[in-house]
Amino acid sequence: MGQPSMNSLGIGMTSERTRQRMIDRLRVRGIGDERVLMAMAKIPRHVFVDEALSHRAYEDVALPIKYGQTISQPFVVARMTEEVIRHDHPVKVLELGTGSGYQAAVLSQLVDEVFSIERIDKLTRQARRRFIKLGYRNVRCKTGDGFAGWASEAPFDIIIVTAAPEQVPYALLDQLRVGGKMILPVGDHLKQKLMAIVKTEHGHQEQYLGDVIFVPLLEGVVR
Ligand code: SAH
Repeated sequence: MGQPSMNSLGIGMTSERTRQRMIDRLRVRGIGDERVLMAMAKIPRHVFVDEALSHRAYEDVALPIKYGQTISQPFVVARMTEEVIRHDHPVKVLELGTGSGYQAAVLSQLVDEVFSIERIDKLTRQARRRFIKLGYRNVRCKTGDGFAGWASEAPFDIIIVTAAPEQVPYALLDQLRVGGKMILPVGDHLKQKLMAIVKTEHGHQEQYLGDVIFVPLLEGVVR
């Protein structure tokens, strides 16, 4: 963890301007929900990337984080977040794939409670430190296998998956309320579809949202 210093103050000031440019670019690319843009204008993305890459934190690209994982591209975070809050105000959201914690931080501004699961314990711990440092008190995270969900906190209004399974894990729909929605990329490492799956009284409805690339959703936990 870096020391608070003149230097970090400097980064803070630069980041506000570059962050605003990121928001302008997202708007140009078609992100229209002002609530999402406002949340992303507030979250210091540079805190969620490794220090060596913090000068690139506001480019619209996915960046490597530790353990071979990535922090998602801002456009994709924005797009998925728009989908999370499209119809009503979600109370409880479950995220699978905490990673850097950035997506969870954005969600923390827009929903009541965020629960986030990460399979790599060191990433969970790092994300938790960031949430505490930044004061995002409505995010809870734990190390676990996302395929199992978080049964003791179910049902959720939304399940957002930020790593790609090869097939839709339909069992997770059990942890959604009726009318709730799972937003996830599905596919292999070459081609993935972003899907929204709404749980209905007697089944579910699927909607295709676009093509994306995420790291794979893998089974098991890394301690
Ligand atoms: N939402 C993250 C994206 C991180 S990349 C962010 O904003 O930075 C996806 C993350 O999913 C990786 O950290 C990876 O370790 C994690 N992951 C992969 N399979 C998982 C599983 N079964 N359960 C929980 N996390 C998983």
